[in-house]
Amino acid sequence: MTVGTVSGNRGLQIEQLLIFEQNTKGDTAVDLPPAPKVKDRLGAMRNTDKIGLPGLSEPEVVRHYTRLSQKNYSIDTGFYPLGSCTMKHNPRLNEKMARLPGFAEIHPFQPISTIQGGFELIDTCASWLKELTGMTAVAMSPAAGAHGELCGLLCIRAAHVANGQDNRRVVLVPESAHGTNPATAALTGYAVESVPATEDGHVDVAALKAKLGPHVAAVMITNPNTCGLFEKDAIEIAAAVHEAGAYFYMDGANFNAIVGRVKIADLGVDAMHINLHKTFSTPHGGGGPGAGPTVLSAKLAPFAPVPQVVKVGEKYDAVELAGDKRARQAFGRMKGFHGQFGVFVRAVSYMMALGADGLRQASGDAVLNANYVMARLSEELTPAFAGPCMHECVFDDRFLKNTGVSTLDFAKALIDEGFHPPTMYFPLVVHGALLIEPTETESKASLDQFIEAVLGLARRAKEGNAADDFRARPLLAPRRRLDETKAARKPVLRWKPSEPESNGARQAAE
Ligand SMILES: *Cc1c(COP(=O)(O)O)cnc(C)c1O
Repeated sequence: MTVGTVSGNRGLQIEQLLIFEQNTKGDTAVDLPPAPKVKDRLGAMRNTDKIGLPGLSEPEVVRHYTRLSQKNYSIDTGFYPLGSCTMKHNPRLNEKMARLPGFAEIHPFQPISTIQGGFELIDTCASWLKELTGMTAVAMSPAAGAHGELCGLLCIRAAHVANGQDNRRVVLVPESAHGTNPATAALTGYAVESVPATEDGHVDVAALKAKLGPHVAAVMITNPNTCGLFEKDAIEIAAAVHEAGAYFYMDGANFNAIVGRVKIADLGVDAMHINLHKTFSTPHGGGGPGAGPTVLSAKLAPFAPVPQVVKVGEKYDAVELAGDKRARQAFGRMKGFHGQFGVFVRAVSYMMALGADGLRQASGDAVLNANYVMARLSEELTPAFAGPCMHECVFDDRFLKNTGVSTLDFAKALIDEGFHPPTMYFPLVVHGALLIEPTETESKASLDQFIEAVLGLARRAKEGNAADDFRARPLLAPRRRLDETKAARKPVLRWKPSEPESNGARQAAE
């Protein structure tokens, strides 16, 4: 049951047209002087059509974008339990550091003598990452987690080529790995073979060993995995992988669960990317920004991509070309410049603010929070695996059996309670999964609020006769359910003026 308004506005959330549809023609926020006469050198390339910018006054522009920003659910507005994404508070100190003109206004084309401080920052970030993982080298340029995976696999391929082993064409990926792992292996040109998970959510080690052989280039394992569990057999897996002449790639996006507690090198890892934007804070979501530095073992270090920052005496220098005597075996270049510098600044700020002991406590608190959520929600929900979990916990949909309510309905109903839904239907090995990652930055009070809302919804679903109500939700959000399949399959990427004239009230995609 909804209470409508005449205008379509609700709860001080204002319905508005697209900015192009608000075009009031004559009104603009600025007065531009007439363009000076210049000699036209564009010839036939000159654009004679209208460019179609909307005309709006300054207050209209300000309101438009402020209202849009208010429709944005973010970690700054509320609890954001999206599993696998590590949506945690981003300390404002990091932002202050990233805005310092000495960091914000430098450009990689400046003479190296004028950006020594920038290089020192990249080197400091690299040192922390090597210290925290115990690995030999780190490639700093990958721009995100998936890009870091690509970097790791390109290093592995370069190593196999250098060793005359390019006949190895298969990468093994367990079912409990993140979806980007098989995608990366395929993009690098490898055939992907899946390794099953055991009942308790771990890699099936016996099945993995049976698939190893002289055709296998690498094994990619997400650890902690997407079931929120530590792959406790990692050392045994690494030994078997190396025995077979392959390399061990570990997806380290979930490093936030083990930072300060597990030395990655001790697990026998050859390459691992780190999502700086998850473990070391940084606002992310909606595609960026991020940074995915990839730490490398001694065997893979020579193949790291350029550019690389190196220290010569007291000065920093950049190795720009693969084949330079300092990067003779570098596989090439992944990015124009040195990587996501602004994210490095935030990560270093975060690391230095917390210190080694603080980072260790952060991973402990993240795991504690997830186990608290798991234990309390188990009153009504059905955990997919026996605990304890790492930094995230996963429930299946057995608790919704015979209620007529699906995982999707349940997640959408949470929006009306004021929470961003958890990750749904992932990991794929769990039926109707709900994957919840609270992170270390939530207080007990905010976790309790979320828990009460979820338990309340679970009880309502189980009481019966609730399926229709759940299926209608969200009722209180600015938009109801969107046709996500249609949006993905037939995206409308370009606005076209509607004919003859749009009269307001845009159709919500319901
Ligand atoms: C987030 C994530 C990735 C991908 O990282 P992006 O920065 O989004 O490319 C890979 N693996 C795991 C386990 C992740 O959680």
